[in-house]
Amino acid sequence: MARYIFVTGGVVSSLGKGLSSASLAYLLKSQGYKVRLRKMDPYLNVDPGTMSPFQHGEVFVTEDGAETDLDLGHYERFTNVSCKKTDNITTGKIYSDVIKKERKGLYEGKTVQVIPHITNRIKEFIKNDIKKEDFVICEIGGTVGDIESLPFLEAIRQFSNEEGFKKSLFVHLTLVPYLKSSDEIKTKPTQHSVKELRSIGIQPNIIICRCERSIEISQRRKISQFCNVSIDNVIETVDVKTIYEAPISFYREKLDKQVLKFFNLLPRKKVNLNPWKKITKIISTKKNSIDIAIIGKYVNLKDAYKSLDEALTHGGINNNVKVNLIRIESDELKIENTRKELKNISGVLIPGGFGKRGTEGKISAIKFARLNNIPFLGICFGMQMAVIEFARNVLKIKNAGSTEFNKKCFPVIGLMNEWIKDGKLLKGTRDELGGTMRLGSYAANLRHNSIIKNIYKSSVISERHRHRYEVNISLMSKFENKGMIFSGLSPDKKLPEIIELKKHKWFIGVQFHPEFKSRPLFPHPLFSSFIKASKYK
Ligand code: GLN
Repeated sequence: MARYIFVTGGVVSSLGKGLSSASLAYLLKSQGYKVRLRKMDPYLNVDPGTMSPFQHGEVFVTEDGAETDLDLGHYERFTNVSCKKTDNITTGKIYSDVIKKERKGLYEGKTVQVIPHITNRIKEFIKNDIKKEDFVICEIGGTVGDIESLPFLEAIRQFSNEEGFKKSLFVHLTLVPYLKSSDEIKTKPTQHSVKELRSIGIQPNIIICRCERSIEISQRRKISQFCNVSIDNVIETVDVKTIYEAPISFYREKLDKQVLKFFNLLPRKKVNLNPWKKITKIISTKKNSIDIAIIGKYVNLKDAYKSLDEALTHGGINNNVKVNLIRIESDELKIENTRKELKNISGVLIPGGFGKRGTEGKISAIKFARLNNIPFLGICFGMQMAVIEFARNVLKIKNAGSTEFNKKCFPVIGLMNEWIKDGKLLKGTRDELGGTMRLGSYAANLRHNSIIKNIYKSSVISERHRHRYEVNISLMSKFENKGMIFSGLSPDKKLPEIIELKKHKWFIGVQFHPEFKSRPLFPHPLFSSFIKASKYK
Protein backbone atom coordinates (compact mmCIF):
# COMPACT_ATOMS: atom_id res chain seq x y z
CA MET A 1 0.00 0.00 0.00
CA ALA A 2 1.37 3.40 -0.99
CA ARG A 3 1.58 6.16 1.58
CA TYR A 4 1.80 9.75 0.43
CA ILE A 5 4.07 12.46 1.78
CA PHE A 6 3.36 16.00 0.57
CA VAL A 7 6.15 18.53 0.88
CA THR A 8 5.20 22.21 0.78
CA GLY A 9 7.33 25.30 1.27
CA GLY A 10 6.73 28.52 3.13
CA VAL A 11 8.09 32.05 3.66
CA VAL A 12 10.50 32.10 0.70
CA SER A 13 11.43 29.83 -2.19
CA SER A 14 14.78 28.05 -2.66
CA LEU A 15 14.89 26.62 0.86
CA GLY A 16 15.78 23.16 -0.39
CA LYS A 17 12.46 21.33 -0.65
CA GLY A 18 13.89 19.15 -3.39
CA LEU A 19 16.94 18.26 -1.36
CA SER A 20 14.88 17.58 1.77
CA SER A 21 12.50 15.35 -0.21
CA ALA A 22 15.40 13.51 -1.85
CA SER A 23 17.19 13.00 1.48
CA LEU A 24 14.04 11.68 3.13
CA ALA A 25 13.55 9.34 0.17
CA TYR A 26 17.09 8.01 0.57
CA LEU A 27 16.59 7.38 4.29
CA LEU A 28 13.33 5.49 3.70
CA LYS A 29 14.79 3.53 0.80
CA SER A 30 17.85 2.64 2.81
CA GLN A 31 15.56 1.21 5.50
CA GLY A 32 14.03 -1.21 3.03
CA TYR A 33 11.11 0.76 1.60
CA LYS A 34 10.28 1.32 -2.05
CA VAL A 35 10.03 5.04 -2.78
CA ARG A 36 8.94 7.29 -5.62
CA LEU A 37 9.43 11.04 -5.86
CA ARG A 38 7.23 13.44 -7.79
CA LYS A 39 7.10 17.16 -8.40
CA MET A 40 4.16 19.45 -9.14
CA ASP A 41 5.13 22.82 -10.61
CA PRO A 42 2.62 25.65 -10.45
CA TYR A 43 3.69 27.54 -13.61
CA LEU A 44 1.73 27.68 -16.86
CA ASN A 45 4.40 26.26 -19.18
CA VAL A 46 3.43 22.73 -20.17
CA ASP A 47 6.96 21.61 -19.23
CA PRO A 48 10.22 23.47 -18.56
CA GLY A 49 11.61 22.36 -21.96
CA THR A 50 10.94 25.71 -23.62
CA MET A 51 12.05 27.85 -20.68
CA SER A 52 15.35 29.72 -20.70
CA PRO A 53 17.94 28.61 -18.15
CA PHE A 54 17.73 32.20 -16.86
CA GLN A 55 14.19 31.43 -15.79
CA HIS A 56 14.38 27.93 -14.56
CA GLY A 57 17.90 26.56 -14.40
CA GLU A 58 18.66 23.24 -15.99
CA VAL A 59 16.08 21.12 -17.78
CA PHE A 60 16.47 17.58 -16.47
CA VAL A 61 15.74 14.78 -18.94
CA THR A 62 14.39 11.42 -17.81
CA GLU A 63 15.06 7.99 -19.34
CA ASP A 64 11.67 8.05 -21.05
CA GLY A 65 12.33 11.49 -22.56
CA ALA A 66 10.47 13.95 -20.34
CA GLU A 67 11.89 17.46 -19.97
CA THR A 68 11.46 18.11 -16.29
CA ASP A 69 12.30 20.24 -13.30
CA LEU A 70 15.87 20.03 -12.06
CA ASP A 71 14.69 18.72 -8.69
CA LEU A 72 14.11 15.38 -10.41
CA GLY A 73 17.88 15.31 -10.87
CA HIS A 74 18.30 15.51 -7.10
CA TYR A 75 15.74 12.76 -6.66
CA GLU A 76 17.65 10.44 -8.99
CA ARG A 77 21.06 11.30 -7.56
CA PHE A 78 20.00 10.63 -3.98
CA THR A 79 17.87 7.55 -4.49
CA ASN A 80 19.29 6.05 -7.69
CA VAL A 81 15.67 5.49 -8.74
CA SER A 82 15.01 6.67 -12.31
CA CYS A 83 12.18 9.19 -12.58
CA LYS A 84 9.60 8.94 -15.33
CA LYS A 85 7.39 11.21 -17.43
CA THR A 86 4.67 10.53 -14.91
CA ASP A 87 6.67 12.11 -12.07
CA ASN A 88 6.51 15.80 -13.02
CA ILE A 89 3.50 17.91 -13.84
CA THR A 90 2.83 21.62 -14.27
CA THR A 91 -0.27 23.79 -14.11
CA GLY A 92 0.10 24.23 -17.89
CA LYS A 93 -0.06 20.47 -18.48
CA ILE A 94 -3.01 20.02 -16.11
CA TYR A 95 -5.00 22.78 -17.83
CA SER A 96 -4.11 21.60 -21.32
CA ASP A 97 -5.25 18.06 -20.44
CA VAL A 98 -8.53 19.34 -19.00
CA ILE A 99 -9.16 21.69 -21.94
CA LYS A 100 -8.43 18.91 -24.45
CA LYS A 101 -10.99 16.74 -22.70
CA GLU A 102 -13.50 19.59 -22.66
CA ARG A 103 -13.06 20.12 -26.43
CA LYS A 104 -13.80 16.46 -27.00
CA GLY A 105 -17.02 16.85 -25.06
CA LEU A 106 -15.93 14.40 -22.41
CA TYR A 107 -17.39 16.43 -19.54
CA GLU A 108 -20.89 15.82 -20.87
CA GLY A 109 -22.03 19.41 -20.94
CA LYS A 110 -20.99 20.22 -17.38
CA THR A 111 -19.40 23.56 -16.44
CA VAL A 112 -15.67 22.84 -16.26
CA GLN A 113 -14.17 24.35 -13.09
CA VAL A 114 -11.00 24.46 -11.00
CA ILE A 115 -12.83 22.44 -8.38
CA PRO A 116 -13.50 19.63 -9.19
CA HIS A 117 -11.99 19.26 -12.69
CA ILE A 118 -8.53 20.73 -12.22
CA THR A 119 -8.18 19.30 -8.71
CA ASN A 120 -9.36 15.90 -9.94
CA ARG A 121 -6.70 15.93 -12.64
CA ILE A 122 -4.07 16.78 -9.99
CA LYS A 123 -5.25 13.90 -7.80
CA GLU A 124 -5.07 11.59 -10.82
CA PHE A 125 -1.45 12.65 -11.32
CA ILE A 126 -0.60 11.92 -7.69
CA LYS A 127 -1.96 8.36 -7.86
CA ASN A 128 -1.09 7.53 -11.47
CA ASP A 129 1.48 4.83 -12.30
CA ILE A 130 2.06 3.73 -8.71
CA LYS A 131 2.74 0.02 -8.45
CA LYS A 132 4.41 -1.44 -5.42
CA GLU A 133 5.72 1.77 -3.89
CA ASP A 134 5.57 2.08 -0.12
CA PHE A 135 6.05 5.84 -0.19
CA VAL A 136 5.24 8.48 -2.78
CA ILE A 137 6.86 11.78 -1.90
CA CYS A 138 5.20 14.69 -3.75
CA GLU A 139 6.88 18.05 -3.71
CA ILE A 140 4.71 21.09 -4.45
CA GLY A 141 6.70 23.82 -6.17
CA GLY A 142 6.41 27.46 -5.14
CA THR A 143 5.54 28.86 -1.75
CA VAL A 144 2.35 28.68 0.27
CA GLY A 145 0.44 31.92 -0.31
CA ASP A 146 1.13 32.07 -4.05
CA ILE A 147 -2.03 32.23 -6.16
CA GLU A 148 -0.56 29.61 -8.51
CA SER A 149 -0.14 26.92 -5.84
CA LEU A 150 -3.73 27.07 -4.60
CA PRO A 151 -5.27 24.34 -6.81
CA PHE A 152 -2.43 21.97 -5.83
CA LEU A 153 -2.89 22.63 -2.12
CA GLU A 154 -6.64 22.20 -2.45
CA ALA A 155 -6.06 18.93 -4.32
CA ILE A 156 -3.74 17.47 -1.67
CA ARG A 157 -6.16 18.53 1.06
CA GLN A 158 -8.97 16.67 -0.73
CA PHE A 159 -6.65 13.74 -1.38
CA SER A 160 -5.88 13.29 2.29
CA ASN A 161 -9.57 13.52 3.18
CA GLU A 162 -10.56 10.98 0.53
CA GLU A 163 -7.71 8.52 0.97
CA GLY A 164 -7.73 8.65 4.76
CA PHE A 165 -5.72 10.92 7.03
CA LYS A 166 -3.46 8.06 8.07
CA LYS A 167 -2.32 7.57 4.49
CA SER A 168 -1.00 11.05 3.87
CA LEU A 169 1.50 13.13 5.72
CA PHE A 170 2.15 16.85 5.29
CA VAL A 171 5.68 18.17 5.64
CA HIS A 172 6.13 21.95 5.58
CA LEU A 173 9.56 23.49 5.04
CA THR A 174 9.98 27.07 6.26
CA LEU A 175 12.63 29.65 6.93
CA VAL A 176 13.59 30.54 10.48
CA PRO A 177 15.70 33.66 9.98
CA TYR A 178 18.52 34.71 12.28
CA LEU A 179 18.70 38.44 13.01
CA LYS A 180 22.22 39.57 13.52
CA SER A 181 21.35 42.89 15.14
CA SER A 182 19.39 41.31 17.97
CA ASP A 183 21.33 38.00 17.87
CA GLU A 184 18.20 35.89 17.83
CA ILE A 185 16.21 33.69 15.54
CA LYS A 186 12.65 34.54 14.59
CA THR A 187 9.79 32.05 14.45
CA LYS A 188 7.12 34.52 13.34
CA PRO A 189 7.45 33.89 9.56
CA THR A 190 6.99 30.16 10.24
CA GLN A 191 3.91 30.84 12.35
CA HIS A 192 2.42 32.95 9.56
CA SER A 193 3.22 30.44 6.88
CA VAL A 194 1.60 27.61 8.85
CA LYS A 195 -1.40 29.84 9.55
CA GLU A 196 -1.76 30.35 5.80
CA LEU A 197 -1.57 26.60 5.21
CA ARG A 198 -4.14 25.90 7.91
CA SER A 199 -6.50 28.47 6.41
CA ILE A 200 -6.55 26.24 3.31
CA GLY A 201 -7.36 23.27 5.51
CA ILE A 202 -3.93 21.67 5.76
CA GLN A 203 -2.42 21.03 9.17
CA PRO A 204 1.25 20.12 8.70
CA ASN A 205 2.39 17.02 10.57
CA ILE A 206 6.09 17.84 10.38
CA ILE A 207 7.75 21.24 10.11
CA ILE A 208 11.28 21.45 8.78
CA CYS A 209 12.91 24.71 9.78
CA ARG A 210 15.72 25.98 7.62
CA CYS A 211 18.04 28.08 9.73
CA GLU A 212 21.55 29.46 9.66
CA ARG A 213 22.21 28.17 13.16
CA SER A 214 20.82 25.52 15.44
CA ILE A 215 17.39 26.23 16.94
CA GLU A 216 17.21 26.09 20.74
CA ILE A 217 14.67 23.91 22.45
CA SER A 218 12.71 26.94 23.72
CA GLN A 219 12.25 28.17 20.16
CA ARG A 220 11.28 24.71 18.94
CA ARG A 221 8.69 24.62 21.70
CA LYS A 222 7.32 27.92 20.50
CA ILE A 223 7.00 26.62 16.92
CA SER A 224 5.39 23.45 18.23
CA GLN A 225 2.87 25.43 20.30
CA PHE A 226 1.93 28.03 17.70
CA CYS A 227 1.83 25.65 14.78
CA ASN A 228 0.10 22.78 16.53
CA VAL A 229 2.82 20.23 15.76
CA SER A 230 4.39 17.91 18.33
CA ILE A 231 7.84 19.10 19.39
CA ASP A 232 9.47 15.91 18.07
CA ASN A 233 8.14 16.86 14.66
CA VAL A 234 9.83 20.24 14.61
CA ILE A 235 12.95 19.37 12.66
CA GLU A 236 15.80 21.73 11.95
CA THR A 237 17.99 21.84 8.87
CA VAL A 238 21.07 23.93 9.29
CA ASP A 239 23.25 24.80 6.29
CA VAL A 240 25.56 21.89 5.43
CA LYS A 241 29.05 21.94 3.88
CA THR A 242 27.98 19.85 0.92
CA ILE A 243 24.52 18.78 -0.20
CA TYR A 244 25.61 15.18 0.28
CA GLU A 245 25.67 15.74 4.00
CA ALA A 246 21.90 16.38 3.98
CA PRO A 247 20.82 12.72 4.51
CA ILE A 248 23.16 12.51 7.52
CA SER A 249 21.81 15.69 9.01
CA PHE A 250 18.14 14.70 8.51
CA TYR A 251 18.85 11.31 10.06
CA ARG A 252 20.40 13.03 13.07
CA GLU A 253 17.24 15.11 13.36
CA LYS A 254 15.15 11.89 13.17
CA LEU A 255 13.07 13.01 10.18
CA ASP A 256 12.75 9.44 8.86
CA LYS A 257 11.94 8.11 12.33
CA GLN A 258 9.10 10.58 12.76
CA VAL A 259 7.74 9.76 9.31
CA LEU A 260 7.76 6.02 10.04
CA LYS A 261 6.18 6.65 13.43
CA PHE A 262 3.34 8.62 11.83
CA PHE A 263 2.56 5.69 9.54
CA ASN A 264 3.01 3.19 12.36
CA LEU A 265 5.92 1.47 10.64
CA LEU A 266 9.30 0.18 11.72
CA PRO A 267 12.53 0.17 9.72
CA ARG A 268 12.90 -3.00 7.65
CA LYS A 269 16.67 -2.59 7.56
CA LYS A 270 19.29 -0.56 9.33
CA VAL A 271 19.94 2.72 7.58
CA ASN A 272 23.28 2.96 5.77
CA LEU A 273 24.87 6.40 5.96
CA ASN A 274 28.42 5.27 5.28
CA PRO A 275 28.52 6.27 1.60
CA TRP A 276 27.43 9.83 2.45
CA LYS A 277 29.93 10.03 5.30
CA LYS A 278 32.68 8.90 2.95
CA ILE A 279 31.71 11.42 0.26
CA THR A 280 31.41 14.28 2.74
CA LYS A 281 34.83 13.44 4.09
CA ILE A 282 36.44 13.33 0.66
CA ILE A 283 34.84 16.61 -0.40
CA SER A 284 35.72 18.49 2.77
CA THR A 285 39.22 17.17 3.38
CA LYS A 286 40.64 16.83 -0.11
CA LYS A 287 44.10 18.27 -0.35
CA ASN A 288 44.48 18.06 -4.11
CA SER A 289 42.34 20.10 -6.39
CA ILE A 290 42.13 20.69 -10.13
CA ASP A 291 40.59 23.47 -12.18
CA ILE A 292 38.13 22.49 -14.87
CA ALA A 293 36.87 25.22 -17.20
CA ILE A 294 33.19 25.11 -18.09
CA ILE A 295 32.65 27.34 -21.08
CA GLY A 296 29.06 28.22 -21.82
CA LYS A 297 26.41 30.88 -22.16
CA TYR A 298 24.80 30.56 -18.77
CA VAL A 299 27.82 29.93 -16.57
CA ASN A 300 26.95 32.70 -14.14
CA LEU A 301 23.64 31.11 -13.26
CA LYS A 302 24.03 28.77 -10.36
CA ASP A 303 21.56 26.12 -11.51
CA ALA A 304 21.95 26.27 -15.30
CA TYR A 305 24.28 23.25 -15.46
CA LYS A 306 23.25 21.57 -12.20
CA SER A 307 23.65 17.92 -13.21
CA LEU A 308 26.91 18.70 -14.96
CA ASP A 309 28.40 20.40 -11.89
CA GLU A 310 27.34 17.42 -9.81
CA ALA A 311 28.73 14.88 -12.31
CA LEU A 312 32.12 16.63 -12.28
CA THR A 313 32.12 16.56 -8.50
CA HIS A 314 31.32 12.84 -8.65
CA GLY A 315 34.25 12.34 -11.04
CA GLY A 316 36.39 14.11 -8.44
CA ILE A 317 35.12 11.89 -5.63
CA ASN A 318 36.17 8.84 -7.64
CA ASN A 319 39.67 10.27 -8.13
CA ASN A 320 40.04 11.68 -4.65
CA VAL A 321 40.44 15.19 -5.90
CA LYS A 322 38.45 18.37 -5.40
CA VAL A 323 37.16 19.77 -8.70
CA ASN A 324 37.11 23.56 -8.90
CA LEU A 325 34.66 24.65 -11.55
CA ILE A 326 36.03 27.67 -13.38
CA ARG A 327 33.09 29.18 -15.22
CA ILE A 328 33.94 31.09 -18.35
CA GLU A 329 31.37 33.09 -20.29
CA SER A 330 31.76 31.91 -23.91
CA ASP A 331 30.86 35.35 -25.22
CA GLU A 332 33.88 36.82 -23.54
CA LEU A 333 36.33 34.31 -24.96
CA LYS A 334 38.10 35.63 -28.05
CA ILE A 335 41.00 34.23 -30.07
CA GLU A 336 43.26 36.82 -28.40
CA ASN A 337 42.47 35.96 -24.78
CA THR A 338 41.89 32.18 -24.95
CA ARG A 339 45.48 31.27 -24.08
CA LYS A 340 45.50 33.60 -21.08
CA GLU A 341 42.09 32.42 -19.81
CA LEU A 342 42.92 28.72 -20.12
CA LYS A 343 46.58 28.85 -19.09
CA ASN A 344 46.26 27.05 -15.77
CA ILE A 345 43.27 24.91 -16.58
CA SER A 346 43.54 21.13 -16.22
CA GLY A 347 40.58 20.24 -18.42
CA VAL A 348 38.07 21.97 -20.69
CA LEU A 349 34.38 21.16 -20.78
CA ILE A 350 31.86 22.60 -23.23
CA PRO A 351 28.32 21.77 -22.14
CA GLY A 352 25.07 21.56 -24.09
CA GLY A 353 23.66 24.74 -25.56
CA PHE A 354 21.47 26.37 -28.18
CA GLY A 355 21.89 29.23 -30.65
CA LYS A 356 24.69 31.29 -32.08
CA ARG A 357 25.76 33.51 -29.20
CA GLY A 358 29.12 32.46 -27.79
CA THR A 359 29.86 29.79 -30.40
CA GLU A 360 33.10 31.38 -31.64
CA GLY A 361 34.45 31.55 -28.07
CA LYS A 362 33.69 27.87 -27.61
CA ILE A 363 35.38 26.98 -30.90
CA SER A 364 38.45 28.98 -29.91
CA ALA A 365 38.68 27.11 -26.57
CA ILE A 366 38.33 23.76 -28.34
CA LYS A 367 41.13 24.63 -30.74
CA PHE A 368 43.34 25.55 -27.79
CA ALA A 369 42.56 22.27 -25.98
CA ARG A 370 43.12 20.23 -29.14
CA LEU A 371 46.47 21.80 -30.00
CA ASN A 372 47.78 21.85 -26.43
CA ASN A 373 46.80 18.30 -25.49
CA ILE A 374 44.45 19.51 -22.71
CA PRO A 375 41.74 17.00 -21.77
CA PHE A 376 38.51 18.02 -23.45
CA LEU A 377 34.93 16.85 -23.00
CA GLY A 378 32.25 18.21 -25.32
CA ILE A 379 28.65 17.49 -24.42
CA CYS A 380 25.94 17.69 -27.09
CA PHE A 381 26.41 21.26 -28.43
CA GLY A 382 29.99 20.97 -27.13
CA MET A 383 30.57 17.93 -29.36
CA GLN A 384 28.99 19.72 -32.33
CA MET A 385 31.35 22.67 -31.80
CA ALA A 386 34.34 20.29 -31.66
CA VAL A 387 33.29 18.83 -35.00
CA ILE A 388 32.99 22.32 -36.50
CA GLU A 389 36.42 23.32 -35.14
CA PHE A 390 38.02 20.21 -36.63
CA ALA A 391 36.29 20.72 -39.97
CA ARG A 392 37.45 24.32 -40.19
CA ASN A 393 41.01 23.97 -38.94
CA VAL A 394 42.02 20.45 -39.92
CA LEU A 395 39.81 19.57 -42.89
CA LYS A 396 40.13 23.21 -44.02
CA ILE A 397 36.42 23.61 -44.73
CA LYS A 398 36.45 27.30 -43.90
CA ASN A 399 32.69 27.87 -43.77
CA ALA A 400 31.92 24.69 -41.82
CA GLY A 401 29.11 25.30 -39.35
CA SER A 402 25.70 24.25 -38.08
CA THR A 403 22.43 25.11 -39.79
CA GLU A 404 21.11 25.84 -36.31
CA PHE A 405 22.76 29.25 -36.48
CA ASN A 406 23.99 29.72 -40.04
CA LYS A 407 21.75 28.62 -42.87
CA LYS A 408 24.45 29.38 -45.46
CA CYS A 409 27.28 27.37 -43.89
CA PHE A 410 28.77 24.10 -45.08
CA PRO A 411 26.60 21.91 -42.83
CA VAL A 412 28.80 19.61 -40.80
CA ILE A 413 25.95 19.84 -38.28
CA GLY A 414 22.40 19.97 -39.50
CA LEU A 415 18.89 18.64 -39.47
CA MET A 416 19.81 15.88 -41.87
CA ASN A 417 18.35 12.85 -40.31
CA GLU A 418 15.05 12.08 -38.83
CA TRP A 419 15.20 9.71 -35.96
CA ILE A 420 13.17 6.66 -35.31
CA LYS A 421 12.05 5.45 -31.92
CA ASP A 422 9.88 2.42 -31.30
CA GLY A 423 9.28 2.18 -35.04
CA LYS A 424 7.91 5.73 -35.21
CA LEU A 425 9.41 8.61 -37.14
CA LEU A 426 10.01 11.56 -34.84
CA LYS A 427 10.79 15.04 -36.06
CA GLY A 428 10.53 18.51 -34.66
CA THR A 429 8.34 21.03 -36.44
CA ARG A 430 8.97 24.75 -36.51
CA ASP A 431 5.66 25.86 -35.01
CA GLU A 432 5.72 23.49 -32.07
CA LEU A 433 8.91 23.62 -30.06
CA GLY A 434 8.11 21.84 -26.79
CA GLY A 435 8.96 18.15 -26.59
CA THR A 436 9.96 17.89 -30.26
CA MET A 437 13.63 17.09 -29.85
CA ARG A 438 15.33 13.74 -29.81
CA LEU A 439 14.63 13.16 -26.15
CA GLY A 440 15.44 10.48 -23.61
CA SER A 441 17.38 7.30 -23.69
CA TYR A 442 18.83 5.93 -26.94
CA ALA A 443 21.40 3.20 -27.51
CA ALA A 444 24.80 3.64 -29.15
CA ASN A 445 27.26 1.04 -30.36
CA LEU A 446 30.89 1.66 -29.47
CA ARG A 447 33.76 0.93 -31.81
CA HIS A 448 36.15 -1.85 -31.00
CA ASN A 449 39.55 -0.57 -29.79
CA SER A 450 38.24 2.93 -29.13
CA ILE A 451 39.04 5.03 -26.06
CA ILE A 452 35.34 5.33 -25.30
CA LYS A 453 34.82 1.57 -25.28
CA ASN A 454 37.67 1.26 -22.88
CA ILE A 455 36.03 3.84 -20.60
CA TYR A 456 32.56 2.29 -20.62
CA LYS A 457 33.92 -1.29 -20.69
CA SER A 458 30.97 -2.22 -22.88
CA SER A 459 30.20 -2.20 -26.58
CA VAL A 460 26.58 -1.03 -26.27
CA ILE A 461 25.55 1.86 -24.07
CA SER A 462 22.36 3.78 -23.44
CA GLU A 463 22.38 7.49 -22.64
CA ARG A 464 19.91 10.36 -22.47
CA HIS A 465 19.53 12.85 -25.33
CA ARG A 466 18.08 16.32 -25.82
CA HIS A 467 18.87 17.81 -29.21
CA ARG A 468 17.59 18.46 -32.73
CA TYR A 469 20.75 18.70 -34.79
CA GLU A 470 23.10 15.90 -35.81
CA VAL A 471 26.67 15.51 -37.03
CA ASN A 472 26.68 14.94 -40.79
CA ILE A 473 27.42 11.22 -41.11
CA SER A 474 28.29 11.51 -44.81
CA LEU A 475 31.56 13.21 -43.80
CA MET A 476 32.66 10.38 -41.53
CA SER A 477 35.54 9.06 -43.65
CA LYS A 478 36.88 12.59 -44.26
CA PHE A 479 37.08 13.16 -40.51
CA GLU A 480 38.47 9.73 -39.75
CA ASN A 481 41.25 10.07 -42.32
CA LYS A 482 42.48 13.10 -40.42
CA GLY A 483 42.23 11.53 -36.98
CA MET A 484 38.76 12.38 -35.62
CA ILE A 485 37.08 9.03 -35.06
CA PHE A 486 33.32 8.54 -34.91
CA SER A 487 33.68 5.93 -32.19
CA GLY A 488 30.01 5.65 -31.24
CA LEU A 489 27.08 5.38 -33.64
CA SER A 490 23.35 4.85 -33.33
CA PRO A 491 22.42 1.18 -33.92
CA ASP A 492 21.27 2.01 -37.49
CA LYS A 493 24.71 3.63 -38.04
CA LYS A 494 23.09 6.88 -39.23
CA LEU A 495 23.75 9.15 -36.26
CA PRO A 496 27.21 9.87 -34.85
CA GLU A 497 26.97 9.64 -31.07
CA ILE A 498 30.63 9.98 -30.02
CA ILE A 499 33.77 11.48 -31.50
CA GLU A 500 37.32 11.11 -30.23
CA LEU A 501 40.76 12.22 -31.36
CA LYS A 502 43.38 9.60 -32.04
CA LYS A 503 46.40 11.74 -31.31
CA HIS A 504 45.36 13.46 -28.15
CA LYS A 505 45.64 12.73 -24.48
CA TRP A 506 41.88 12.80 -23.90
CA PHE A 507 39.53 14.46 -26.36
CA ILE A 508 35.96 13.19 -26.47
CA GLY A 509 32.65 14.60 -27.64
CA VAL A 510 29.28 12.98 -26.96
CA GLN A 511 25.95 13.82 -28.56
CA PHE A 512 24.12 12.77 -25.37
CA HIS A 513 24.10 14.04 -21.80
CA PRO A 514 26.01 11.63 -19.55
CA GLU A 515 25.63 14.04 -16.62
CA PHE A 516 21.99 12.99 -16.13
CA LYS A 517 23.05 9.49 -15.18
CA SER A 518 25.90 10.24 -12.82
CA ARG A 519 25.26 9.54 -9.14
CA PRO A 520 27.40 10.48 -6.13
CA LEU A 521 27.45 6.84 -5.08
CA PHE A 522 27.96 5.64 -8.68
CA PRO A 523 30.04 8.27 -10.52
CA HIS A 524 29.69 8.16 -14.30
CA PRO A 525 32.71 6.48 -15.99
CA LEU A 526 33.05 9.28 -18.55
CA PHE A 527 33.40 11.96 -15.87
CA SER A 528 35.71 9.79 -13.77
CA SER A 529 37.93 9.20 -16.78
CA PHE A 530 37.89 12.91 -17.76
CA ILE A 531 38.88 13.99 -14.24
CA LYS A 532 41.55 11.28 -14.08
CA ALA A 533 43.09 12.51 -17.35
CA SER A 534 42.90 16.13 -16.13
CA LYS A 535 44.44 15.21 -12.79
CA TYR A 536 47.58 13.87 -14.43
CA LYS A 537 47.85 16.71 -16.91
N1 GLN B 1 21.41 22.98 -30.04
C1 GLN B 1 21.89 21.68 -30.34
C2 GLN B 1 20.81 20.79 -30.94
O1 GLN B 1 19.66 21.08 -30.87
C3 GLN B 1 22.47 21.01 -29.10
C4 GLN B 1 21.47 20.81 -28.02
C5 GLN B 1 22.10 20.52 -26.68
O2 GLN B 1 23.28 20.80 -26.47
N2 GLN B 1 21.34 19.98 -25.75
O3 GLN B 1 21.15 19.78 -31.52
